Amino acid sequence: MAFGHQKVESRRLLLREISQRGPLPRIDLAARTGISRATVTSVTADLLRGGLIEEVPRESRSDEAARGRPRVDLKIAGDAHLIAGLKVSDTFISLVLMDFEGSDVAHYEHEIAPHRHDPDALADEVFHGLSALAAQTGCGLPDISGVGVGLAGIVDAGNGVVYWSPSLDRRNVPLAAILTERLGIAAYVDNDANLVAMAELTFGIGKNHSDFIVITIESGVGMGMVLGGQLYRGTRGCGAEFGHTKVHLDGALCRCGQRGCLEAYVADYALVREANSVGSVAQTPPTPKAVTAVLAAARQGDPTARIVIERAGKMFAMGLANIVNIFDPELVILAGEQMQFDHLYADGVIEEMRKSIVEIDKPAPDVVVHKWDTLMWARGGAAYALEFVQDTAVEALENA
Ligand SMILES: [Zn+2]
Repeated sequence: MAFGHQKVESRRLLLREISQRGPLPRIDLAARTGISRATVTSVTADLLRGGLIEEVPRESRSDEAARGRPRVDLKIAGDAHLIAGLKVSDTFISLVLMDFEGSDVAHYEHEIAPHRHDPDALADEVFHGLSALAAQTGCGLPDISGVGVGLAGIVDAGNGVVYWSPSLDRRNVPLAAILTERLGIAAYVDNDANLVAMAELTFGIGKNHSDFIVITIESGVGMGMVLGGQLYRGTRGCGAEFGHTKVHLDGALCRCGQRGCLEAYVADYALVREANSVGSVAQTPPTPKAVTAVLAAARQGDPTARIVIERAGKMFAMGLANIVNIFDPELVILAGEQMQFDHLYADGVIEEMRKSIVEIDKPAPDVVVHKWDTLMWARGGAAYALEFVQDTAVEALENA
Protein backbone atom coordinates (compact mmCIF):
# COMPACT_ATOMS: atom_id res chain seq x y z
CA MET A 1 0.00 0.00 0.00
CA ALA A 2 2.70 2.47 1.05
CA PHE A 3 4.64 1.75 -2.13
CA GLY A 4 1.53 2.18 -4.27
CA HIS A 5 0.80 5.53 -2.67
CA GLN A 6 4.36 6.67 -3.25
CA LYS A 7 4.11 5.64 -6.89
CA VAL A 8 0.94 7.69 -7.41
CA GLU A 9 2.62 10.66 -5.71
CA SER A 10 5.69 10.38 -8.00
CA ARG A 11 3.44 10.18 -11.06
CA ARG A 12 1.51 13.23 -9.90
CA LEU A 13 4.65 15.23 -9.20
CA LEU A 14 6.34 14.37 -12.50
CA LEU A 15 3.19 15.00 -14.55
CA ARG A 16 2.83 18.43 -12.94
CA GLU A 17 6.50 19.24 -13.50
CA ILE A 18 6.24 18.27 -17.19
CA SER A 19 3.05 20.32 -17.44
CA GLN A 20 4.68 23.42 -15.94
CA ARG A 21 8.22 23.16 -17.34
CA GLY A 22 8.04 20.85 -20.33
CA PRO A 23 9.23 19.91 -22.84
CA LEU A 24 12.23 18.76 -20.84
CA PRO A 25 14.52 15.69 -20.68
CA ARG A 26 14.28 12.99 -18.01
CA ILE A 27 17.57 14.05 -16.46
CA ASP A 28 16.17 17.54 -15.74
CA LEU A 29 13.07 16.00 -14.16
CA ALA A 30 15.27 14.08 -11.74
CA ALA A 31 17.28 17.20 -10.90
CA ARG A 32 14.20 19.41 -10.44
CA THR A 33 12.14 17.03 -8.31
CA GLY A 34 14.83 15.14 -6.39
CA ILE A 35 13.29 11.85 -7.60
CA SER A 36 15.98 9.29 -8.53
CA ARG A 37 16.76 8.77 -12.21
CA ALA A 38 15.68 5.14 -12.04
CA THR A 39 12.27 6.12 -10.62
CA VAL A 40 11.91 8.92 -13.19
CA THR A 41 12.52 6.35 -15.94
CA SER A 42 9.91 3.90 -14.64
CA VAL A 43 7.30 6.54 -13.73
CA THR A 44 7.59 8.37 -17.06
CA ALA A 45 7.19 4.98 -18.78
CA ASP A 46 3.84 4.63 -16.94
CA LEU A 47 2.79 8.14 -18.03
CA LEU A 48 3.81 7.40 -21.63
CA ARG A 49 1.92 4.10 -21.64
CA GLY A 50 -1.17 5.87 -20.25
CA GLY A 51 -1.04 8.39 -23.10
CA LEU A 52 -0.65 11.39 -20.74
CA ILE A 53 2.77 12.45 -22.03
CA GLU A 54 4.74 11.95 -25.22
CA GLU A 55 8.34 11.98 -26.40
CA VAL A 56 9.46 14.72 -28.76
CA PRO A 57 12.85 15.19 -30.40
CA ARG A 58 14.77 17.97 -28.70
CA GLU A 59 16.12 20.90 -30.67
CA SER A 60 19.73 19.75 -30.57
CA ARG A 61 22.51 21.90 -29.31
CA SER A 62 25.71 21.25 -31.23
CA ASP A 63 27.79 20.11 -28.23
CA GLU A 64 25.21 17.49 -27.24
CA ALA A 65 24.87 16.29 -30.83
CA ALA A 66 28.65 15.94 -31.04
CA ARG A 67 28.73 13.77 -27.91
CA GLY A 68 25.90 11.62 -29.17
CA ARG A 69 23.62 12.09 -26.15
CA PRO A 70 20.01 10.94 -26.40
CA ARG A 71 17.96 13.88 -27.59
CA VAL A 72 14.44 13.28 -26.39
CA ASP A 73 12.23 15.57 -24.33
CA LEU A 74 8.98 14.79 -22.56
CA LYS A 75 5.89 16.90 -23.00
CA ILE A 76 2.20 16.66 -22.14
CA ALA A 77 0.07 14.83 -24.72
CA GLY A 78 -2.30 17.64 -25.71
CA ASP A 79 -5.12 15.43 -26.92
CA ALA A 80 -5.23 13.26 -23.78
CA HIS A 81 -8.01 15.35 -22.18
CA LEU A 82 -10.27 18.34 -22.82
CA ILE A 83 -10.84 20.80 -19.97
CA ALA A 84 -13.39 23.62 -19.80
CA GLY A 85 -13.20 26.84 -17.83
CA LEU A 86 -15.85 29.47 -17.37
CA LYS A 87 -16.65 32.64 -15.54
CA VAL A 88 -20.10 33.86 -14.61
CA SER A 89 -20.37 37.65 -15.08
CA ASP A 90 -23.35 39.96 -14.66
CA THR A 91 -24.75 39.57 -18.17
CA PHE A 92 -22.82 36.69 -19.75
CA ILE A 93 -20.86 33.53 -19.14
CA SER A 94 -17.48 33.38 -20.88
CA LEU A 95 -16.28 29.87 -21.64
CA VAL A 96 -13.06 28.36 -22.90
CA LEU A 97 -12.10 24.84 -23.93
CA MET A 98 -8.48 23.78 -23.51
CA ASP A 99 -6.47 20.71 -24.33
CA PHE A 100 -4.37 18.83 -21.76
CA GLU A 101 -1.38 21.08 -22.52
CA GLY A 102 -3.38 24.20 -21.68
CA SER A 103 -3.78 25.46 -25.26
CA ASP A 104 -7.07 27.10 -26.22
CA VAL A 105 -9.25 24.90 -28.43
CA ALA A 106 -12.40 27.04 -28.57
CA HIS A 107 -14.17 29.84 -26.74
CA TYR A 108 -17.71 31.14 -26.50
CA GLU A 109 -19.75 33.84 -24.81
CA HIS A 110 -23.22 32.91 -23.58
CA GLU A 111 -25.64 35.70 -22.64
CA ILE A 112 -27.58 35.49 -19.38
CA ALA A 113 -30.16 37.74 -17.75
CA PRO A 114 -28.67 40.43 -15.51
CA HIS A 115 -30.20 39.31 -12.22
CA ARG A 116 -29.49 36.96 -9.34
CA HIS A 117 -30.09 33.37 -10.40
CA ASP A 118 -31.74 30.37 -8.88
CA PRO A 119 -28.86 27.81 -8.63
CA ASP A 120 -30.62 25.24 -10.86
CA ALA A 121 -31.42 27.94 -13.44
CA LEU A 122 -27.78 29.01 -13.43
CA ALA A 123 -26.74 25.36 -13.91
CA ASP A 124 -29.06 25.25 -16.95
CA GLU A 125 -27.38 28.35 -18.40
CA VAL A 126 -23.96 26.77 -17.87
CA PHE A 127 -25.22 23.59 -19.56
CA HIS A 128 -26.41 25.53 -22.64
CA GLY A 129 -23.22 27.59 -22.86
CA LEU A 130 -20.99 24.56 -22.49
CA SER A 131 -22.99 22.54 -25.03
CA ALA A 132 -22.62 25.36 -27.59
CA LEU A 133 -18.89 25.54 -26.85
CA ALA A 134 -18.44 21.78 -27.26
CA ALA A 135 -20.50 21.76 -30.47
CA GLN A 136 -17.99 24.21 -32.04
CA THR A 137 -15.34 21.50 -31.89
CA GLY A 138 -17.62 18.63 -32.90
CA CYS A 139 -17.45 17.00 -29.46
CA GLY A 140 -20.03 16.53 -26.72
CA LEU A 141 -20.09 17.19 -22.99
CA PRO A 142 -18.96 13.62 -22.16
CA ASP A 143 -15.68 14.36 -23.99
CA ILE A 144 -14.82 17.04 -21.42
CA SER A 145 -12.90 15.70 -18.40
CA GLY A 146 -13.48 18.57 -15.98
CA VAL A 147 -14.82 22.11 -15.73
CA GLY A 148 -13.63 24.94 -13.51
CA VAL A 149 -16.12 27.71 -12.70
CA GLY A 150 -15.33 31.17 -11.36
CA LEU A 151 -17.81 33.62 -9.93
CA ALA A 152 -17.68 36.70 -7.75
CA GLY A 153 -18.39 36.18 -4.08
CA ILE A 154 -17.27 34.12 -1.13
CA VAL A 155 -16.54 30.54 -2.06
CA ASP A 156 -15.30 27.51 -0.14
CA ALA A 157 -13.43 26.00 -3.09
CA GLY A 158 -12.46 22.80 -1.25
CA ASN A 159 -16.10 21.91 -0.59
CA GLY A 160 -17.52 23.53 -3.73
CA VAL A 161 -19.88 25.71 -1.69
CA VAL A 162 -20.72 29.31 -2.59
CA TYR A 163 -21.45 31.11 0.70
CA TRP A 164 -22.53 34.25 -1.08
CA SER A 165 -22.37 35.55 -4.64
CA PRO A 166 -23.97 38.50 -6.47
CA SER A 167 -24.86 35.95 -9.21
CA LEU A 168 -27.00 33.73 -6.93
CA ASP A 169 -30.34 34.43 -5.28
CA ARG A 170 -29.50 32.59 -2.06
CA ARG A 171 -26.66 31.80 0.33
CA ASN A 172 -24.75 28.54 1.04
CA VAL A 173 -25.21 26.88 -2.36
CA PRO A 174 -23.38 23.56 -3.03
CA LEU A 175 -22.76 24.77 -6.58
CA ALA A 176 -20.02 22.27 -7.56
CA ALA A 177 -22.35 19.34 -6.77
CA ILE A 178 -25.29 20.97 -8.60
CA LEU A 179 -23.15 21.58 -11.71
CA THR A 180 -21.55 18.12 -11.64
CA GLU A 181 -25.04 16.59 -11.55
CA ARG A 182 -26.46 18.83 -14.31
CA LEU A 183 -23.46 18.62 -16.67
CA GLY A 184 -22.36 15.05 -16.01
CA ILE A 185 -18.80 16.43 -15.75
CA ALA A 186 -16.73 16.90 -12.59
CA ALA A 187 -17.14 20.60 -11.76
CA TYR A 188 -14.99 22.76 -9.46
CA VAL A 189 -15.87 26.27 -8.29
CA ASP A 190 -13.79 29.08 -6.89
CA ASN A 191 -13.84 32.81 -6.37
CA ASP A 192 -13.13 34.50 -9.71
CA ALA A 193 -10.17 36.56 -8.47
CA ASN A 194 -8.50 33.37 -7.18
CA LEU A 195 -8.88 31.91 -10.64
CA VAL A 196 -7.20 34.92 -12.21
CA ALA A 197 -4.27 34.35 -9.82
CA MET A 198 -4.34 30.72 -10.98
CA ALA A 199 -4.26 31.83 -14.63
CA GLU A 200 -1.32 34.19 -13.93
CA LEU A 201 0.50 31.33 -12.16
CA THR A 202 -0.17 28.77 -14.91
CA PHE A 203 -0.05 30.80 -18.12
CA GLY A 204 0.72 34.41 -17.26
CA ILE A 205 3.11 36.88 -15.68
CA GLY A 206 3.28 34.87 -12.43
CA LYS A 207 4.64 31.74 -14.09
CA ASN A 208 8.17 32.23 -12.76
CA HIS A 209 7.25 33.71 -9.39
CA SER A 210 6.48 31.93 -6.15
CA ASP A 211 5.04 34.86 -4.18
CA PHE A 212 2.78 37.36 -5.85
CA ILE A 213 -0.51 39.14 -5.49
CA VAL A 214 -3.09 39.74 -8.17
CA ILE A 215 -5.58 42.57 -7.79
CA THR A 216 -8.55 42.34 -10.14
CA ILE A 217 -10.54 45.43 -11.00
CA GLU A 218 -14.05 44.99 -12.36
CA SER A 219 -17.17 46.53 -10.93
CA GLY A 220 -15.69 45.43 -7.58
CA VAL A 221 -12.11 44.89 -6.44
CA GLY A 222 -10.83 41.32 -5.98
CA MET A 223 -7.57 39.78 -4.95
CA GLY A 224 -5.80 36.45 -5.35
CA MET A 225 -2.63 35.49 -3.49
CA VAL A 226 0.05 33.00 -4.46
CA LEU A 227 2.37 32.17 -1.57
CA GLY A 228 5.17 29.62 -1.96
CA GLY A 229 3.87 28.71 -5.43
CA GLN A 230 0.39 27.85 -4.09
CA LEU A 231 -2.87 29.73 -4.20
CA TYR A 232 -3.73 30.88 -0.66
CA ARG A 233 -7.45 30.77 0.16
CA GLY A 234 -7.65 31.40 3.88
CA THR A 235 -9.28 28.95 6.29
CA ARG A 236 -12.94 29.94 5.81
CA GLY A 237 -12.55 30.41 2.06
CA CYS A 238 -12.97 34.13 2.44
CA GLY A 239 -9.35 35.27 2.58
CA ALA A 240 -8.07 38.05 0.36
CA GLU A 241 -11.24 40.16 0.47
CA PHE A 242 -9.20 43.18 -0.54
CA GLY A 243 -12.30 45.17 -1.49
CA HIS A 244 -13.55 44.98 2.09
CA THR A 245 -10.36 45.99 3.87
CA LYS A 246 -11.07 49.17 5.75
CA VAL A 247 -9.55 52.43 4.58
CA HIS A 248 -11.72 54.90 6.50
CA LEU A 249 -13.05 55.00 10.07
CA ASP A 250 -16.87 55.33 10.02
CA GLY A 251 -16.55 55.81 6.26
CA ALA A 252 -18.88 55.32 3.32
CA LEU A 253 -21.41 52.49 3.36
CA CYS A 254 -20.35 49.42 1.35
CA ARG A 255 -22.53 46.88 -0.47
CA CYS A 256 -21.45 44.33 2.15
CA GLY A 257 -23.24 46.35 4.86
CA GLN A 258 -20.12 47.61 6.63
CA ARG A 259 -18.55 51.05 6.52
CA GLY A 260 -15.23 52.37 5.23
CA CYS A 261 -14.43 49.46 2.86
CA LEU A 262 -12.04 50.15 -0.01
CA GLU A 263 -14.75 49.10 -2.46
CA ALA A 264 -17.04 51.81 -1.12
CA TYR A 265 -14.58 54.34 -2.61
CA VAL A 266 -13.25 52.72 -5.77
CA ALA A 267 -16.05 50.51 -7.17
CA ASP A 268 -18.06 51.92 -10.06
CA TYR A 269 -21.19 52.40 -7.93
CA ALA A 270 -19.07 54.30 -5.40
CA LEU A 271 -17.81 56.76 -8.02
CA VAL A 272 -21.38 57.59 -9.03
CA ARG A 273 -22.46 57.97 -5.41
CA GLU A 274 -19.55 60.30 -4.63
CA ALA A 275 -20.17 62.33 -7.78
CA ASN A 276 -23.86 62.60 -6.82
CA SER A 277 -22.98 63.74 -3.32
CA VAL A 278 -20.74 66.57 -4.54
CA GLY A 279 -23.31 67.44 -7.16
CA SER A 280 -21.14 67.74 -10.26
CA VAL A 281 -23.16 65.26 -12.27
CA ALA A 282 -26.95 65.03 -12.47
CA GLN A 283 -28.31 62.71 -9.72
CA THR A 284 -28.22 59.25 -11.27
CA PRO A 285 -28.39 55.63 -10.20
CA PRO A 286 -25.06 53.79 -10.61
CA THR A 287 -25.65 52.40 -14.11
CA PRO A 288 -22.68 51.68 -16.41
CA LYS A 289 -23.70 54.83 -18.32
CA ALA A 290 -23.53 56.95 -15.18
CA VAL A 291 -20.07 55.56 -14.38
CA THR A 292 -18.89 56.40 -17.89
CA ALA A 293 -20.31 59.91 -17.47
CA VAL A 294 -18.33 60.52 -14.28
CA LEU A 295 -15.12 59.25 -15.86
CA ALA A 296 -15.68 61.29 -19.02
CA ALA A 297 -16.37 64.42 -16.95
CA ALA A 298 -13.10 63.88 -15.07
CA ARG A 299 -11.16 63.46 -18.31
CA GLN A 300 -12.65 66.68 -19.64
CA GLY A 301 -11.38 68.50 -16.58
CA ASP A 302 -14.59 68.79 -14.54
CA PRO A 303 -13.11 69.77 -11.15
CA THR A 304 -15.51 67.84 -8.89
CA ALA A 305 -15.44 64.68 -11.03
CA ARG A 306 -11.66 64.89 -10.91
CA ILE A 307 -11.71 65.10 -7.12
CA VAL A 308 -13.85 61.94 -6.97
CA ILE A 309 -11.51 60.04 -9.30
CA GLU A 310 -8.37 61.26 -7.56
CA ARG A 311 -9.78 60.27 -4.20
CA ALA A 312 -10.56 56.77 -5.54
CA GLY A 313 -6.95 56.54 -6.76
CA LYS A 314 -5.58 57.62 -3.37
CA MET A 315 -7.77 55.12 -1.51
CA PHE A 316 -6.69 52.39 -3.90
CA ALA A 317 -3.01 53.30 -3.41
CA MET A 318 -3.47 53.15 0.38
CA GLY A 319 -5.11 49.73 0.12
CA LEU A 320 -2.29 48.44 -2.11
CA ALA A 321 0.37 49.75 0.27
CA ASN A 322 -1.31 47.92 3.17
CA ILE A 323 -1.22 44.66 1.22
CA VAL A 324 2.44 45.12 0.26
CA ASN A 325 3.36 45.97 3.86
CA ILE A 326 1.69 42.81 5.16
CA PHE A 327 2.87 40.28 2.55
CA ASP A 328 6.06 41.77 1.07
CA PRO A 329 5.46 40.05 -2.28
CA GLU A 330 7.95 39.96 -5.18
CA LEU A 331 5.32 41.17 -7.56
CA VAL A 332 1.90 42.83 -7.63
CA ILE A 333 -0.16 42.26 -10.78
CA LEU A 334 -3.01 44.69 -11.46
CA ALA A 335 -5.26 42.66 -13.71
CA GLY A 336 -8.31 43.89 -15.52
CA GLU A 337 -10.06 43.93 -18.81
CA GLN A 338 -11.64 47.35 -18.94
CA MET A 339 -10.04 50.56 -20.05
CA GLN A 340 -12.49 52.47 -17.87
CA PHE A 341 -10.45 51.67 -14.76
CA ASP A 342 -7.32 53.31 -16.17
CA HIS A 343 -7.40 55.86 -13.38
CA LEU A 344 -6.57 53.08 -10.90
CA TYR A 345 -3.67 51.80 -13.00
CA ALA A 346 -2.17 55.26 -13.37
CA ASP A 347 1.53 55.87 -12.63
CA GLY A 348 0.51 58.45 -10.04
CA VAL A 349 -1.45 55.81 -8.09
CA ILE A 350 1.48 53.39 -8.10
CA GLU A 351 3.83 56.21 -7.05
CA GLU A 352 1.44 57.08 -4.21
CA MET A 353 1.53 53.42 -3.10
CA ARG A 354 5.34 53.39 -3.10
CA LYS A 355 5.35 56.36 -0.71
CA SER A 356 3.35 54.35 1.83
CA ILE A 357 5.29 51.10 1.86
CA VAL A 358 8.01 50.23 4.34
CA GLU A 359 11.28 51.62 3.04
CA ILE A 360 14.51 49.65 3.15
CA ASP A 361 17.61 49.64 0.95
CA LYS A 362 16.03 47.28 -1.52
CA PRO A 363 13.75 48.04 -4.41
CA ALA A 364 9.98 48.02 -3.84
CA PRO A 365 8.08 45.09 -5.36
CA ASP A 366 7.36 45.30 -9.06
CA VAL A 367 3.87 46.46 -9.93
CA VAL A 368 2.79 45.21 -13.34
CA VAL A 369 -0.40 46.10 -15.14
CA HIS A 370 -1.82 43.16 -17.07
CA LYS A 371 -4.77 43.97 -19.28
CA TRP A 372 -6.56 41.12 -20.92
CA ASP A 373 -9.81 40.03 -22.48
CA THR A 374 -12.69 38.42 -20.62
CA LEU A 375 -11.29 34.97 -21.43
CA MET A 376 -8.57 35.35 -18.80
CA TRP A 377 -11.13 34.58 -16.09
CA ALA A 378 -12.32 31.49 -17.95
CA ARG A 379 -8.74 30.35 -18.56
CA GLY A 380 -8.18 30.53 -14.81
CA GLY A 381 -11.18 28.23 -14.34
CA ALA A 382 -9.67 25.77 -16.81
CA ALA A 383 -6.27 25.96 -15.07
CA TYR A 384 -7.97 25.12 -11.77
CA ALA A 385 -9.86 22.14 -13.25
CA LEU A 386 -6.69 20.99 -15.05
CA GLU A 387 -5.02 20.15 -11.71
CA PHE A 388 -7.92 17.89 -10.74
CA VAL A 389 -8.02 16.25 -14.17
CA GLN A 390 -4.27 15.56 -13.91
CA ASP A 391 -4.74 13.97 -10.49
CA THR A 392 -7.69 11.86 -11.63
CA ALA A 393 -5.78 10.72 -14.73
CA VAL A 394 -2.79 9.70 -12.62
CA GLU A 395 -4.98 7.74 -10.19
CA ALA A 396 -6.67 5.96 -13.10
CA LEU A 397 -3.38 4.63 -14.52
CA GLU A 398 -3.06 0.86 -14.20
CA ASN A 399 -0.66 -0.20 -11.48
CA ALA A 400 1.41 -2.17 -13.94
ZN1 LIG B 1 -17.47 46.02 2.24
